[in-house]
Amino acid sequence: MKLLFRLCYLLCFFQVTADACEAGGIKVNTDFDGASSANLLTECMIDIENQHIRLTFQPENTPINNSPWYAFKISSQQPQNVSVKISIVNGSHRYHPKYSVDGKHWLPLTFTTSDEYLEFKLHSAKHPVWLAAQELITNNDYHLWAKELATHFDIKTSVLGYSVQQRPILKLISDIPQSNKWVILVGRQHPPEVTGAMALFSFAETLLSTSTLAQSFRREHNIMILPNINPDGVALGYWRHNANGVDLNRDWQAFKQPEVKAVDDALSELTTKGHHIVMAVDFHSTHNDIFYTMPHDYGIKQPYLVKNWLNLLDSKYVDFNVIQRPGNNPDRGVFKQYIADTYKVHAITYEMGDHTDRAFIKQFAVDAANTFMQSMLTAQHDQLHLIAKPND
Ligand SMILES: [Zn+2]
Repeated sequence: MKLLFRLCYLLCFFQVTADACEAGGIKVNTDFDGASSANLLTECMIDIENQHIRLTFQPENTPINNSPWYAFKISSQQPQNVSVKISIVNGSHRYHPKYSVDGKHWLPLTFTTSDEYLEFKLHSAKHPVWLAAQELITNNDYHLWAKELATHFDIKTSVLGYSVQQRPILKLISDIPQSNKWVILVGRQHPPEVTGAMALFSFAETLLSTSTLAQSFRREHNIMILPNINPDGVALGYWRHNANGVDLNRDWQAFKQPEVKAVDDALSELTTKGHHIVMAVDFHSTHNDIFYTMPHDYGIKQPYLVKNWLNLLDSKYVDFNVIQRPGNNPDRGVFKQYIADTYKVHAITYEMGDHTDRAFIKQFAVDAANTFMQSMLTAQHDQLHLIAKPND
């Protein structure tokens, strides 16, 4: 049985492993989680004489936002300098290319762009070099993160549900539930938005920490962390969509996608049992650091909660502005609107810039989480005070 399992694993592994192209000892391949799928890498040509590699990528389907992911490896039998030219179909070069020798630690590449392609030079040798639009944060990285968290914090890890291609969607829950109030964190609806993923890691770790503030917060709130709700898109190197070619952050009205349905079912189940969703944060990336919020006059509970939180966060920084962008998009099927309409509470879309300094993303997320907990506890205290007042 064990042998059969191993054989199946090997066959499955090699099924998805395909050399993209190879010539003159130079090899381009996409044999790793998060690499561009074969249907996304439409052209792979190696010009041996001029040591040029030309690659063309297209999205999983159209129409699609301009978020052109690519990830591949290059190796060479003989050490040599090569020039890599990347063209994008149905998009432009949104991301700055990065390289890694281990798939974990990444450095920016010097590159140039023209109307036709993005170009960079590289020293290629036998040991493959990873090249990608952004740092890789793979499905396995989420499992390793959950495992690591469990060694430090009291969390329960389980499977929320399964994606279109039957990949598990990870669910983490804080402590033993002591309250009937829930804060929900969601990540990776859009696969290439890894700066949002980095923010989620630090934000979640701060909520789960042993600080006095975090412990007080968790006595009043349970935390559900869904760090990666599009594992198919992440595995396949998709630009935006799930394996059905659908933008998950446009499905929160139709609930046709299993990933979205699984989240909705889990939250409905909580409320059926008398629990309350009190706030949700959905982590993304875009060109700038920005917070899309619900308007304070939208008719949701604690109307100034998010405004107070983000103002408090803003007050911590002299050289950085926390941009709040309140908005109401009733027909777009976005997560933020779904939470506000269904549970009458605040939800925000927490966007980190594609090129924002990675150390800043971490520190900012720690500050965001601490001010978030302070604001939630203060709002709760104020509300209790208001309720208590008539009897004073
Ligand atoms: Zn997004």
